[in-house]
Amino acid sequence: MQQDKNLTEIKREPQCILCGKCLEVCPLLAATGREEFSPRGKLLLLSRLAEAPDTLSEAAAERLASLCLSCGRCVRACPQGTNVPAEVSRLRAKYPGFQRWLWKTWIERSGLLWPAAARLGAALRGKIPGAADGVAAGLARKLATMSRGGAFAPWIVPRSFAACPQAPKVVLFPGCLARSVRTDWTQQAVALVRRLGAQLLDAPDWACCGGTLGHAGLVEQQREAARTNVRAWRQAGRPTIVTFCASCHHGLAAYPDLDGLGFVDDEAKTWAAALTPLSGLAACAWFAVTDCAPDRVHYHQPCHAPVPDPDRVWLTRVSGGRLAPVDGKACCGMGGVLQLAAPELSSRVAGNLWERLRAEPGDQVITGCSGCWLQLASTAPQGVLVGHWLDTLQEIETPTP
Ligand code: SF4
Ligand code: SF4
Repeated sequence: MQQDKNLTEIKREPQCILCGKCLEVCPLLAATGREEFSPRGKLLLLSRLAEAPDTLSEAAAERLASLCLSCGRCVRACPQGTNVPAEVSRLRAKYPGFQRWLWKTWIERSGLLWPAAARLGAALRGKIPGAADGVAAGLARKLATMSRGGAFAPWIVPRSFAACPQAPKVVLFPGCLARSVRTDWTQQAVALVRRLGAQLLDAPDWACCGGTLGHAGLVEQQREAARTNVRAWRQAGRPTIVTFCASCHHGLAAYPDLDGLGFVDDEAKTWAAALTPLSGLAACAWFAVTDCAPDRVHYHQPCHAPVPDPDRVWLTRVSGGRLAPVDGKACCGMGGVLQLAAPELSSRVAGNLWERLRAEPGDQVITGCSGCWLQLASTAPQGVLVGHWLDTLQEIETPTP
């Protein structure tokens, strides 16, 4: 029987062998230098909590539950197969706190709340000093970012689609941000898919991919979102699902590991094979850079990007030698519910990223995840411009039917 990763206990055997590999990759440890924030440190506290629940106060357990970005870097690094973020998500389920309720409402009502938040952000724009610190200023900057469209003039233009095969039937999974606020990304993606020769079906009424709900310990809500999406895919005839947000892709790719979705026979494999990043689909097309291309471009690799990362491959190919060496080790610090539970840690991780990136005024930072875009664009140093790779593309003319 399949097991829900969010409900699976960390195996106590074999145990942590103190190899320290997770310490090399944890963004929280890198940003704070505090070993108790590291995967190994958390694992120790979690083990203590499991063995003797009374040794940690409820406040301490809640604090522990807040100390993870759910980036998954430690899971990939650990030779023992421990899964600290899954265990933290179990802890979050046990110690709900008001932040989880807020996060659930924020995600499940994104269609209603996010456009309203963007309108509020437009009213706040320019009123928050760039250097202002604190939770309220950080939140206001995020809302102001949501109200903005592209931060720079597009500088990549499609030149030829002649090599693209007639693709199968596809549906677009834009994700919550591109459906509610950055609808320009969705429009660009629709136009690009059509130019690539795919037969684009009407978008079903998707739910959130559920990834961020699972990380927050909202396991039943994650499962319900997954059920809705699988049902919509089946009703559409099990087409290819095209994504352009790395975190959405990651959330959808986790469905075969969830209980209760009713996958039959090889359907889970068909689901996994159907997930296709848009940048990978666009590998058959040729692009050129225009005169307004920046001198230097950085790529921020999302923690949840597929391996190899198709967005990075695409940008490397089309950016005409402008791409600075990519630092795949830095996390943006978005961290889902951590935004509410420990925003000061999110800021420190973002600060660490900007120090490593060394982006200068006039540079552009491109990413392929809507959450990373929001975090980077709202924390960027003065003069550094942040965008999704779809922002780099000039408006694509759709072929006449
Ligand atoms: S998931 Fe990321 S932030 Fe959380 S413990 Fe692992 S490496 Fe650190
Ligand atoms: S990588 Fe795994 S085994 Fe090694 S210290 Fe971290 S948790 Fe322990």
